[in-house]
Amino acid sequence: MIYLDNAATTYPKPMSVRRAVSGAISSGANPGRGGHKMSVSASEQIYKCRVKAAEMFGAGSVENVIFTPGCTYSVNMVIKGILGSGGHAVISDMEHNAVVRPLKALESRGVSYTAVTVSEDDNETISSFRDALRPDTRLVVCTHVSNVWGMRLPVGRIAALCRQYGIPIMIDAAQSAGVFPINAEESGFDFVCMPGHKGLYGPMGTGLLIARRPELLSTIIEGGTGSASRSPEQPDFPPDKFESGTPNYAGIVGLSAGLDFVKATGESRILSHETALTRAFYDRLSREERVIFYTPRPDARRFGGVLSFNIRGMDSEAAAQYLSQRAGIAVRAGLHCAPLAHRHFGTLDTGAVRICPSYFTTMNEINAAASAVMRLARNS
Ligand code: PMP
Repeated sequence: MIYLDNAATTYPKPMSVRRAVSGAISSGANPGRGGHKMSVSASEQIYKCRVKAAEMFGAGSVENVIFTPGCTYSVNMVIKGILGSGGHAVISDMEHNAVVRPLKALESRGVSYTAVTVSEDDNETISSFRDALRPDTRLVVCTHVSNVWGMRLPVGRIAALCRQYGIPIMIDAAQSAGVFPINAEESGFDFVCMPGHKGLYGPMGTGLLIARRPELLSTIIEGGTGSASRSPEQPDFPPDKFESGTPNYAGIVGLSAGLDFVKATGESRILSHETALTRAFYDRLSREERVIFYTPRPDARRFGGVLSFNIRGMDSEAAAQYLSQRAGIAVRAGLHCAPLAHRHFGTLDTGAVRICPSYFTTMNEINAAASAVMRLARNS
């Protein structure tokens, strides 16, 4: 199988990650819950991962790194933590349902939001964000890289705008973490949400919330934290406040190995490899009569390694089914949980076919995928 669905989760995982997960399952006690050796050693492993993440993403302090089950959970923590009692949010029109649905769910509590149209011209995008701010805007949310179209949004400039107006900003780094360097402190991001299982090469069921202003968040679940156990009250200090229940120890140890992998490889090498592949795919097919690309030729300054297309006259799901069943190529079709992003390019009815390579994808695989799409476009 040629796996081009790395925007959903990366596959394969590096050998170091697989070994780390297997080792953690083979020997691991509940971290932070006991004074015995195996529990203490598990706590140390988790702490090590926290330190690595704090350094890698500019969290400001180790306590600002919060482990979650995935990006959706991280996003919910921020949106519900800040807007739980009402207010207005400004989001981009590239947001995933991980952002839109929690906002919708809060409408009954007086929350409203404005989705800003992203433009190819960053200046225009910034001024649209500025125009959408209101006196009651309590949060700005912006995805770093669109999970459908791969375009990179000017999040640094949007953060600067938010700072000017004193409004917290949350970045959805689901498609950018591990591909573009992210430093929350330097860029002025108050919150950065990311899965551990995509560009960070960790296992599914892992995620991170980098919370530089944890004091703005309330909890969405409470429970045992292994700390301050005498008190019936939830601890009010991070990360414990936000990490109730037994952590995903094997997942976090795997994520830790994933962070090592990304650091050793380097985001810039990962990005240039993925860009070379999406570019090659684009170049092979852009002159093909029935193949429609919606975005310009990928370049590493403005795009992450995500590219979507359609075959004129064919439903995206049908194209993906052909690629899977007849050519052994795994892609994702449909709306990718991001209907706003599809409305932007007029593909709400057809969806689109998305390819996303990883660091492990080869040029031969991309060429084979492009040839399969070409065959489909010419012969169907
Ligand atoms: N945001 C974006 C932009 C995504 O691409 C995804 C995953 N498709 C998510 C959020 C949700 O991530 P997770 O599945 O890890 O919760």
